[in-house]
Amino acid sequence: MTALTERRPDSRDGAPAAVVDVAHLEHVLLGRWRDVRRAARELLADPRFHKVEGLSSAEHRERVLEQLRLLVAEGDVLRAFPAELGGADDHGGSLARFEEVLTADPSLQIKAGVQWGLFASAILHLGTEDHHRRLLRGAMTLEVPGSFAMTEIGHGSDVASIATTATYDPETEEFVIHTPYRAAWKEYLGNAAKHATAAVVFAQLVTKGVNHGVHAFYVPIRDPRTGEFLPGVTGEDDGLKGGLNGVDNGRLAFDHVRVPRRDLLNRYGDVAPDGTYTSPIASPGRRFFTMLGTLVQGRVSLDGAATNAAKLALVIAVTYGNQRRQFTAASPTDEVVLLDYAEHQRRLLPRLAQTYAHAFAHERLLEAFHGVFSG
Ligand SMILES: Cc1cc2nc3c(=O)[nH]c(=O)nc-3n(C[C@H](O)[C@H](O)[C@H](O)COP(=O)(O)OP(=O)(O)OC[C@H]3O[C@@H](n4cnc5c(N)ncnc54)[C@H](O)[C@@H]3O)c2cc1C
Repeated sequence: MTALTERRPDSRDGAPAAVVDVAHLEHVLLGRWRDVRRAARELLADPRFHKVEGLSSAEHRERVLEQLRLLVAEGDVLRAFPAELGGADDHGGSLARFEEVLTADPSLQIKAGVQWGLFASAILHLGTEDHHRRLLRGAMTLEVPGSFAMTEIGHGSDVASIATTATYDPETEEFVIHTPYRAAWKEYLGNAAKHATAAVVFAQLVTKGVNHGVHAFYVPIRDPRTGEFLPGVTGEDDGLKGGLNGVDNGRLAFDHVRVPRRDLLNRYGDVAPDGTYTSPIASPGRRFFTMLGTLVQGRVSLDGAATNAAKLALVIAVTYGNQRRQFTAASPTDEVVLLDYAEHQRRLLPRLAQTYAHAFAHERLLEAFHGVFSG
């Protein structure tokens, strides 16, 4: 194996200087999915994917939606999906690719994550064959822009305590999706303020008077032709955020909205026409965490995207620190580069070291995720 670093005499003053084998370091840092990452970077170097500063929030949102369509056409976005549905069964490679999208515009990465990593993935992992056949294609191709409606105003981390209900009505074989009070409004949902025409809505499943815990339902929310909410659905725009303004985050509420029984994503829990509940997992706690576990890719990819954001910031800061000169400290003629000042080193180098550590730790996380999801 090539050594990462070696020492050799500095040609100018004879002092030893570290030499880094940049090509090898890049090879190691890019990890197992280096070819996927390189291909993504090449694609995302195209200015059509880049963030344009100075756009209004509305313009930025529309630009990012257009970029999602470009990704569908050119971006190899279906890697994580099963081969028989047009994907590649490549879970780690898919996340590695999405993590790189941040280099073009973080809003694009998050909106892509909502569409494919959350909305389509929930249909894939929580649904069964009937849902895959009827609903997945629209989500995968972006024909149906979707939301993932889990968080509520009152409960974010504590998903088990959400208050939206899905009460089964055996008379009509429908679930009635309902938001009982303001704190149960779905909150901070990507795509919900404007673009989503459907949502995977998480709600407490109630049948025969018994609450069986949180389950997911496929719920159409807007008329795709007019963009207007369907009867019983209300929403609000979360408005300007501290960042990610190309994503239309919003709130949703449901007033006794009826969906057919078959639109319960029923991989881990089902309701028969007469209202009888069954599940392959007897323990409600285990069932809940199994369901949430299938959606962990969103969190894994955020870790990778955050690491990439830190890398980009440090490339700028370290390059600047290595080139910018201020004050002639020890010499009457030569000005000193910023990175020769101890204070500047103390600011940047620990963060640089931490980011290397993050990159290697994330690679291990991604490998573990890939192993679990590839069975
Ligand atoms: C940009 C963005 C996009 C989002 N998109 C979506 C989306 O598409 N769909 C969706 O459903 N949701 C979405 N969310 C919501 C997100 O999932 C929630 O913000 C998240 O689950 C945390 O919930 P919360 O904001 O209510 O924070 P809280 O749960 O109130 O937590 C507040 C703080 O307390 C800490 N905390 C909470 N419980 C504990 C504990 N037991 N021990 C220690 N610390 C604790 C948390 O870590 C956090 O720091 C989005 C959020 C953001 C910021």
